[in-house]
Amino acid sequence: MSSPDKAPTEPRSTTPLEERLITLIEANGAISVEDYMADALLHPHEGYYTSRTPIGQKGDFTTSPEISQIFGELIGLWLLQSWEDMGAPEAFNLVELGPGRGVLMADILRVAKLKPEFLKAAHIWLVETSGRMRHEQRKRLQRIAVPLDWADSYDEVPDAPMLVVGNELFDCLPIRQFEMTDLGWRERMVNVKDGALTFSTAFAPPLASVALPTPDTVAIGDIYELGAAGENLAACLAERLKTLGGRALIIDYGHLKSGVGETLQAVKDHQPWPVLQSPGSADISAHVNFERLQMAAFEAGAEAHGPVTQGSFLDRLGLAMRVARLCADKPQNVREEIEAGAFRIAATSQMGEIFKVLSISAPGLPCPAGFSPL
Ligand code: SAH
Repeated sequence: MSSPDKAPTEPRSTTPLEERLITLIEANGAISVEDYMADALLHPHEGYYTSRTPIGQKGDFTTSPEISQIFGELIGLWLLQSWEDMGAPEAFNLVELGPGRGVLMADILRVAKLKPEFLKAAHIWLVETSGRMRHEQRKRLQRIAVPLDWADSYDEVPDAPMLVVGNELFDCLPIRQFEMTDLGWRERMVNVKDGALTFSTAFAPPLASVALPTPDTVAIGDIYELGAAGENLAACLAERLKTLGGRALIIDYGHLKSGVGETLQAVKDHQPWPVLQSPGSADISAHVNFERLQMAAFEAGAEAHGPVTQGSFLDRLGLAMRVARLCADKPQNVREEIEAGAFRIAATSQMGEIFKVLSISAPGLPCPAGFSPL
């Protein structure tokens, strides 16, 4: 029975994953932000991407290909050009990392019909961990006349020359966070306090092999983020492209230079949401550190172009012309819709500036379309 002199407390919205994590942490101790993020997004039953369809108007967030078909069409043209640049190989893998609802690939394939030899040479590989998202992708892409397979991770895609595209995949790869304390850098952990998940810092300092900014360049309380999973994936892409031939296009929101600052965030119903509340029910992501991805590519012996902003990339690929073409024979209301979509994906005030584009290439290929100065 509740005591009458105690104010009733708001019921917390817990999820099965939150309860599971609380039990685990109480038994074994705090877990890293990286492990928390991986579980919250990809837990086989309760993870965000495993248990719901997050993208689109009815989901929690939306993405460029979902906003405007022009995004995927221009990337399709970029891929056709890249295939030519590679010497038009008779067999190659067209790989998409984290394909969401399959919209980007559907738009790419519509444009690719312009070059039937490209489609004849392509074998599509969708790298997707979530069974639910795979189902959506299969529904949308089942009628295409190109071999189509799924892989759980990029390294499972068989060896062949490759063209790889990933939109908003790197931002959901787990990151570690480090906090500058009175005692020096400490890894930020997820702990339990009063029955709820809360942030804490590790007792021991990080290993000397973890590359962190020197303490005299930062202030107490500063956060530094490291995305080993993203850097490993960029290195793996670079390594394979170097030996097998081809190009990758990575598009995501993020920053050009490394630096301190917290970017970990959660989103639910298109609104900000507390990162530690009800894991599995909200999207969690972090800004991509493009400088580190670029370094990983160079260190593996590949070439990298960019990052450039999404707005300038799309402009250089001919966004304005494509908008004009699509609008030509359409009624006013459809024209307005096409223009509004193009504005959202390319305008500086919208997604045009915060989103960046990086290309990783096998050495010796020409500068990819969209990266040379206008
Ligand atoms: N590219 C799509 C979807 C972005 S959402 C678009 O632009 O609309 C992220 C996608 O990556 C989802 O399909 C999600 O299930 C998948 N994903 C998340 N983590 C992944 C991982 N580690 N490996 C492969 N796919 C992953």
